[in-house]
Amino acid sequence: MKIPFFDLSEAHEALAPELAEAFKSTLARSQFIMGSEVAAFESEFARACGAQRAVGAGNGLDALRLALMAYGVGPGDEVIVPAHTFIATWLAVIEVGARPVGVDVDADTFLLDPEASLAAVTPRTRAIVPVHLYGRVADLGAVLPVARARGIVVIEDAAQAHGAVGPCGTAGSIGDAAAFSFYPTKNLGALGDGGAVTTNESAVAERVRMLGNYGSKVKYEHELAGLNSRLDELQAAILRKKLPGLAAGNARRRRLAEAYRERLADISGLTLPPADGDGHSSAWHLFVVRVDDRTALSAALAEAGISTLVHYPILPHYQPALRRFGYGAGSFPAAERIARTALSLPIWPEMSVGQVDRVAEVIRSRLPG
Ligand SMILES: *Cc1c(COP(=O)(O)O)cnc(C)c1O
Repeated sequence: MKIPFFDLSEAHEALAPELAEAFKSTLARSQFIMGSEVAAFESEFARACGAQRAVGAGNGLDALRLALMAYGVGPGDEVIVPAHTFIATWLAVIEVGARPVGVDVDADTFLLDPEASLAAVTPRTRAIVPVHLYGRVADLGAVLPVARARGIVVIEDAAQAHGAVGPCGTAGSIGDAAAFSFYPTKNLGALGDGGAVTTNESAVAERVRMLGNYGSKVKYEHELAGLNSRLDELQAAILRKKLPGLAAGNARRRRLAEAYRERLADISGLTLPPADGDGHSSAWHLFVVRVDDRTALSAALAEAGISTLVHYPILPHYQPALRRFGYGAGSFPAAERIARTALSLPIWPEMSVGQVDRVAEVIRSRLPG
């Protein structure tokens, strides 16, 4: 039995008539930018996140960038980011001209360490960008009050956490603003690039909208030096067809994660991701285990026809593009250890429990007891 890492075909086959209808109706309306589908999706998505407002963007990186810009974060400012994340979190900070200040993550949850992030605050800190990595919502209980008192904005990177819930609430409704990506493989994915910013502040939502539309509210009048980063009508129409299935898809991911946890419990040498509970209901964007000899385990799985991936083999501070910030080896020990040992197992909503059984069986044969 071959098991891919991820497979969209079954979900899209089931939705094919609705997706075709979205395409046909958009074509018939002939309004491809800033039309009624985007407006409708924005209000539906905001509601799904428990946020007051959502504004479409071209992709997740731009959504982060627009959120930072909307709060005036720029040159001379410092922005606290976790050391363990996809590079977009750091790049958004650099693109607005601010300095990314990396902090280590919690070794068990992989998420921003609240104490480390508060210890990194300086008079120049303007924002903190926690990442709800792998679908688990970062616990911001200790961070939010301090940030609020010091005028530091908290912008969630929720690109992997559509519909995820943590002790402080639903992803997208916790910080001052949040950035989402609708990259096709995310929990809510378009048929191309897309993104959104959510916020409870309508003034911020209006700024994000202007900034993503050439800094303009009235055609050919430009109040701000913005960019062109909008969600397309066609992608919004597609996303409106997919959004109603998000909660059920996440629930299926949860069941699969639970099945993995049961079948992989008590294997010494294998560390499982943190379980749900204590207010956490992860979106299980990824199911990431840790194992010392990752190369051998992924090779054994590959030999059995099972695909795995690594999220992420090279941390942002090790990337040639970001070396100038001067973080050397050993700067973030927990993040670096995760980067050496993390292995992502297959998970997608239509995966079967039988497929989880098979993955677990191969892992057990390789790492007995
Ligand atoms: C996917 C992702 C992004 C960027 O989203 P794009 O739509 O690909 O630009 C940002 N942060 C994290 C954590 C992501 O996983």
